Amino acid sequence: MRVTFPHMGNIWIIVKTVLEDLGLEVLVPPRPNPKSLEAGVRHSPEFACFPLKLNIGDFVGALDQGAEAIVMAGGIGPCRLGHYAQVEAQVLKDLGYSAEMVVLEPPRGRFPQLWDKIRYLTGHRPVGRVIGALRFGWEKLKALDELDKVLALGRPAEAVRGSAAAAHRRAVASVCQAASIAGTRKAARAGAEDIALTAGASSGSVTLGPPRSRPLRVGVVGEVFMIQEPFANQEVERRLGEMGVETRRALYLSDWVRMHLLPPPVGLGARRRVRRIREAARPYLRHFVGGEGLDSVGEAVLHESELYDGVIHIAPFTCMPEIVAASLLPEVSRDLGIPVLSLFLDEHTGEAGLVTRLEAFVDLLERRRAVREGRADRQGIRLRGDAPAGGHGGHPVASRPSSPTPREAHGCPLVGFSGWRRGPR
Ligand code: SF4
Repeated sequence: MRVTFPHMGNIWIIVKTVLEDLGLEVLVPPRPNPKSLEAGVRHSPEFACFPLKLNIGDFVGALDQGAEAIVMAGGIGPCRLGHYAQVEAQVLKDLGYSAEMVVLEPPRGRFPQLWDKIRYLTGHRPVGRVIGALRFGWEKLKALDELDKVLALGRPAEAVRGSAAAAHRRAVASVCQAASIAGTRKAARAGAEDIALTAGASSGSVTLGPPRSRPLRVGVVGEVFMIQEPFANQEVERRLGEMGVETRRALYLSDWVRMHLLPPPVGLGARRRVRRIREAARPYLRHFVGGEGLDSVGEAVLHESELYDGVIHIAPFTCMPEIVAASLLPEVSRDLGIPVLSLFLDEHTGEAGLVTRLEAFVDLLERRRAVREGRADRQGIRLRGDAPAGGHGGHPVASRPSSPTPREAHGCPLVGFSGWRRGPR
């Protein structure tokens, strides 16, 4: 049975690793692209969420190449996520595809049901083998998330545009090829060092623009698919990084697994974080509204206390939970004084409009920082010389000689790279 699945960032590497380790034949669909999006939009109901349309595009591409079964994660309401998989199955049936669909529903305490599905999918392989494959996939997932974090910190430091991303691609390829847990860890460590050194070395050798003290730091919150999949969010993280802004996603997939799938004590820290998020959201929103709506509000509140300069909130157009969050975030922003930019994206979103909004947001953050640091008055008029974070005329600069290089920074489990030391705001 040739199995396929939908894309979401680098998750294809983990799913492929686990399924192949269990002896299944895997067909990875083509990466989301304008053609697959067009197919998804054409065949999906118009009111469907943007991620569903991209999923359909992935499935059509893979089924046309000979996939016979689809594995995908299910979901729970109250939003449309509750019947996501069923709608997708119906769309494919109407198109004449007869692939079997195996839906892995989130356990919510009912682990035996999830386990039964996994056993069915894996042809009732021995338990030890299934656990071994899952452990291997887990190691790759952690490694890929750490590489993403290092890239998000290294990219604003690079002086040669694209050098950190190129090092990241090399690192992801070696993690993908690693054939064991030890090999994965080794590839991840070497890859993280490569990204950090590439960014640090280039910023030391070439200067593209005027120096500035430390980069702006922005948290990316919102619907899980949209913040993980660069094609869906039009590479918001890359664009911000190239404007000299450090980003950090509110949710990495390894966090999600820790929060929802791993038993204590492994998932204890993540569960504590969930409680903190819910408590932080409480003054604005007290109950679950579906998807990540509640988390978006709580994370925005926490980002203020964690000294971020701003928050970017990303959601699919018409996403119900994120519409609730977006209606509350202006209040959060006013109360806590943290700028928030909500971006609702879908197949109609134009690149120029998105870039303009990001540039304006980065300008605002930089001006705010300058006022706080006494480099500008409240009208934003420069009092002392310093370069804006995003550079000039939409061509951001990336050099930062006065910041520590990645080698000097510390804290990342892979290379001791957790970002630039923060001073008082
Ligand atoms: S969370 Fe938003 S995008 Fe996801 S299924 Fe629900 S409404 Fe759609």
